[in-house]
Amino acid sequence: MRYKNSCALVTGSSRGIGRAIARRLARDGWPVCVNYYQNQQAGEETVNLIRNHGGNAVLIQADVSKPDDVKNLIQTAEKELGEIELLINNAGIAGQVLFQDITDEIWNRYFGVNFFGARNTIREVLPRMIHKKHGNIINISSIWGLRGASCESAYACTKAALIALTRSLALELAPSGIRVNCIAPGVINTDMVQVLGQDVLRDLANQTPLDRLGTPEDIADLAAFLASDQSNFMTGQVITSDGGFIL
Ligand code: NAP
Repeated sequence: MRYKNSCALVTGSSRGIGRAIARRLARDGWPVCVNYYQNQQAGEETVNLIRNHGGNAVLIQADVSKPDDVKNLIQTAEKELGEIELLINNAGIAGQVLFQDITDEIWNRYFGVNFFGARNTIREVLPRMIHKKHGNIINISSIWGLRGASCESAYACTKAALIALTRSLALELAPSGIRVNCIAPGVINTDMVQVLGQDVLRDLANQTPLDRLGTPEDIADLAAFLASDQSNFMTGQVITSDGGFIL
């Protein structure tokens, strides 16, 4: 059951999967903090889409890899919308690089955003969740974090680390009434995968048993389920939504 005066934070919700999750949660009645990194216009669009459908949302800029940005993000969100009861760690970056060509800078940036971004937000919201003995955390990993990915080893490592974090925190935080779950999306048609080119995307759709790429809404529906009381007995789970791709 949701607390009064509480809200959801979806990191990286200016575009793609994060935007779909923010819109879906707002439709389910959550006041939503929309976070962006660089693309203010896209962030404003997400907020307008939510407000135009009667929802409540605020927009806050933050680079989740920076602890001070995250502190400000959480403080501002809580001042505007109430305590964060639902945290969705979605912000992420990806790219295709041969292992030998992955610089220290790339390793650090991928881990900084994809993994330490989640560490930063969780660290910031946990004291109040533990005090209330109530909270819900959903980390967005990837099928590549489960299976590994050629030319995406840094990305895959960050997503595997998120899975380990999910399971470890689920165990540690269960006595405090806090659930921690993870979604591992397959290939989802967003800006992130456009660099692959239309031919590769068509091939990936053809290799998918359900014969299509995923949509951001496919992942948003799953996030809404994990955010709801319908999943109250679930914690520490990694749920794949990939059209059967890694079967
Ligand atoms: P996307 O379309 O590229 O959107 C990325 C989002 O993350 C944007 O809102 C972006 O903000 C934000 N972001 C990037 N760096 C950030 C930072 N340092 N701090 C805060 N926000 C930041 O990506 P997507 O496809 O929706 O992916 C969302 C999540 O799903 C990622 O974690 C990704 O790894 C995961 N995922 C995606 C796929 C896929 O096939 N698309 C598959 C598996 C998992 P700006 O708009 O300001 O740049």
